[in-house]
Amino acid sequence: MTGAYLPGNSTTELRTVPDPHPCHGEVLLRMKASTICGSDIRCIYHEHLGKGPEGYQGVIAGHEPCGQIIETGPGCRRFRNGDRVIVYHISGCGLCNDCRRGYMISCTSSRYRRAYGWQRDGGMADFLVAEEKDLIALPDELSYADGAQVACGFGTVYEALQKIGICGDHDVLVTGMGPVGLATAALCRKLGAQRIIGIDIVPDRLELARQLGLCDFALSAGPQNVREVLDLTSGRGVERAVDCSANDVRRPIPTARLPEGRAA
Ligand SMILES: [Zn+2]
Ligand SMILES: [Zn+2]
Repeated sequence: MTGAYLPGNSTTELRTVPDPHPCHGEVLLRMKASTICGSDIRCIYHEHLGKGPEGYQGVIAGHEPCGQIIETGPGCRRFRNGDRVIVYHISGCGLCNDCRRGYMISCTSSRYRRAYGWQRDGGMADFLVAEEKDLIALPDELSYADGAQVACGFGTVYEALQKIGICGDHDVLVTGMGPVGLATAALCRKLGAQRIIGIDIVPDRLELARQLGLCDFALSAGPQNVREVLDLTSGRGVERAVDCSANDVRRPIPTARLPEGRAA
């Protein structure tokens, strides 16, 4: 089969490698979609910057895989041939405290914690061997491309929103309307947020957020934003704010005085 590797000089190498086979507790997927995450660009594509959990080990790239099972290894308990599945992007040991709580991302096993596309082969290939415990059933109403975006991007956003809780009492501010910000707004909409305010510096992203009906207000980024948000919320500020800009705030942004416990 053909697999894509990222040598770290802003290129992609396509190599011919042997077809993989599933061992105990593993499945073989025919890949259908595998999206590119910002972390791949930041940490692997241009140069290999990552260390430890972010260290790229020269494997087939792609940590947002989605595909169809075509073979199951011995010991598989739930999934069968023909099932459409998302692969959760990090494979944990399954036995440490964090894995048992569902946080494979913070698995403490240095030997068995391996992210697809970083420390073990990922989705940028014709086939992928994945552990059955890392699979999530892909509902019929979602496409494979949808599923690939759930594997890391949407899934990460969903977990963050679960942590802070979103409900109909909340006005939500989303700063940064790239893929992660759009996912945040989409999920907040479905979770019943009252009003959603999006901010971005790129006009096209704001337009997309408007077209998709994800934001009630889409604002151009600038020092006027605090005042705008306060005006839109009767001076209260928002109940929840999610930063999806990845902007390292080094300069203090001019702020208006906010009521105790409010974020703007
Ligand atoms: Zn990712
Ligand atoms: Zn673990």
